[in-house]
Order: sequence, then C-alpha cells, then structure tokens
Amino acid sequence: MSGFVVKGWCPDAWRPMMAGDGLLVRVRPPLGRLTAAQAEGLCEAANVHGNGQIDLTARANLQLRGVTEAGWPALLEELQALGLVDPDPVREGRGAILVDPMWREGDDTHGITTELRARLVELPALPGKVGFVVDAGARPMLSDAPGDFRIERAATGGLLLRADGRATGVAISREDAVDALIRLAHWFVASGGQAAGRMARHGAALPEWTSGAVSPAPAGESLRPGAHPMGAVYGLPFGRIDAAELAAFVRAHRVALRLTPWRMLLAEGVVPAPAAAMVLEDAPILHVDACVGAPACPQASVATRDLAARLAPLVTGRLHISGCAKGCARARAADWVLTGREGAFDLARNARAGAAPLHTGLTPERAVALLGAC
Ligand code: SF4
Repeated sequence: MSGFVVKGWCPDAWRPMMAGDGLLVRVRPPLGRLTAAQAEGLCEAANVHGNGQIDLTARANLQLRGVTEAGWPALLEELQALGLVDPDPVREGRGAILVDPMWREGDDTHGITTELRARLVELPALPGKVGFVVDAGARPMLSDAPGDFRIERAATGGLLLRADGRATGVAISREDAVDALIRLAHWFVASGGQAAGRMARHGAALPEWTSGAVSPAPAGESLRPGAHPMGAVYGLPFGRIDAAELAAFVRAHRVALRLTPWRMLLAEGVVPAPAAAMVLEDAPILHVDACVGAPACPQASVATRDLAARLAPLVTGRLHISGCAKGCARARAADWVLTGREGAFDLARNARAGAAPLHTGLTPERAVALLGAC
C-alpha cells in the first residue's frame, strides 16, 4: 500500500476504530492521571478484553488494542466504572485535553482543566481531530505538542489564550480563561473552521478580542527518565507496555501514574528503581519513534518495531520509522525518517514521514547498512 487513509477523526472509548488486530480503544484519563486502582483496573481490562498491551500516545492518552466487537461493551462498562470514560459519549468526544503532566492540586493547570471538563457541553461540535492544551505551569512544557486551542503561561508571567498556528495570543485571567477558550471555539466554527479541520489550517483572521501580541514564556526543561521532584520518570520504548508488567509495578508501589506526551510515565512519590519493561535512563531506544506497523495496522506494508530496535543503538539523533506516510508516531520532523511504502522503506533526512526521500525501496538490511554507516 503506498498511500494512507485520512479518517479525519480520532477514536475514543465510545467510538473505537477497527485496526488490523481488532478494535483500538482510546482512553483519556482525567487530567492525565491514573490512581493506583484505576491503573490496576485498566491493566486487567487490557488483559481480559484486549491483547494485553497498553500504548501511551503522543497526546498522553492510553490505547488498548486487539479488542473484539463482542468484548467492547463490557470493556466500556468497566472503564466507566473506573472513572476513566465519561458516561456521556458527547462529553467524552469533546474531552481531548492535553495538560502539563506536572500540575499540582489547585494550580492554574489543575483549576482550568477541571473547569473546562465540567463545561464541555458548552463547546460547539468540533472537527474530530481538534484538541485543547492547558499548559499553565511556571514554564510551558507542551510547546511542541499539537493542540488547537491553547491556554499557556505567558512571557509576562500571566496566562494567555493562543490559537494554534499563531505565534502569540491574548492575555487572560485565571477566572475568564475557560470562558475565552469556549468563545474561541465557537468563533472557529462560526468562521468556517469545520472545513479547515484544524485551527492551524484555518485561514480566517482572528477576531480582535483574541488576536493579541502576548508571547508564551520560554519552554521549560524537558522531562527525562530518572529521579524527579514528584517521583520517578520511566520511559516506555515505543510508548508500549505489557499490562501485566504495569500492573505488577502498581501493586508493588500503590502509587498514582501521570501520563506524558513524551512516552514517559511519572510514578508519583516513587524512589527510582529498575522496573520491568520500563527504562529509567536516557537510553537510545527512547530516541526512536515507531508506530505499530504491519500487521497490526492495515495501512502498513512493513513491520516497524523490530527494525527500530535494531537501529536504535546505531543512529545519532531522532529516528522515526513509520509504517506509512501518515506518520502516526511522530507529527514533527525527525533527524532520520524511514517510511514504509509498498513493502520497502524510503529514507529521508530532517523530515516527517512521507517526505521526499534520499533513498527508496530499502530492505531492512539495507536500511541498517545505510544508517549504521552514517
Ligand atoms: S503511520 Fe503507522 S499506525 Fe499510522 S496509519 Fe500508517 S502504518 Fe498505521
């Protein structure tokens, strides 16, 4: 397969997507946090109803794969009982909110997100891939993460509302932040944003009340595996973890988990110690993005992750291996990108998946030989 299908919507628990390995069910834990009980319950559900693997996505969501159509209703009930899925499918569909994972109880990120979650019904119907970002800690952490409507820490020290694709936004207060965000979402729809699909592609001039010149504050320091003031940060190779291994970790520590969009988990209050299938140091495998590839994804013509594991220690810089040109594992450019096409790989440099290649028709062996020599 040389092309890929743009579906224009994202799956959630109420609307799972059929993949090559069964239904894909996406879970968006409130505020990107799982209590120990929720984490254990989710792991059990992944084992009973899915293929026993859990994926952490680039929007800090969790995905269960390999779910059968017959098993999905029971899974949905269990996820609701755990408080991980909204009983209202409309609210669940509107709740794509990416938050700074280092929020603290009562801070701006926590307060604004809690209010936004309570007011999701006030939002208009938005295109399927639209999402929100609440990044209101002392320094922005999510500047590189996709999100159409963004509440961020401003360079002035206050807060700003920024439409994605615009370098600056308008100053807002904590009290009027959610009002302003909802108003911007309504403007987006009223001004034809449905046709554009995403704020960054929407060419209409912003209304005066939201076209300010306030810049976001400089980005904060990236999260790294290892010790952290809030606990321990663990990297997940390719964002995937075995549900049984995660359950064992949670049972051993009885702690909550914070989800990040960087394929890392933050275990609250844990003293860093090795854990099965999780990486506690900045290892080469964490510098590789690879989607699930063939056979799990019907759009892929190549297997991806075995090759990614072989190449990880050989490549300097960021490597992206994508089963097709859609590039699900990484939206931004990588230093090297291998894109599957018609059963072989195209290699490009400083590019996104599907970019004009330097080499085409590469076998995995040829890719290893080429990248190992760079
Ligand atoms: S990028 Fe990977 S996961 Fe996404 S559609 Fe293509 S093959 Fe499938």
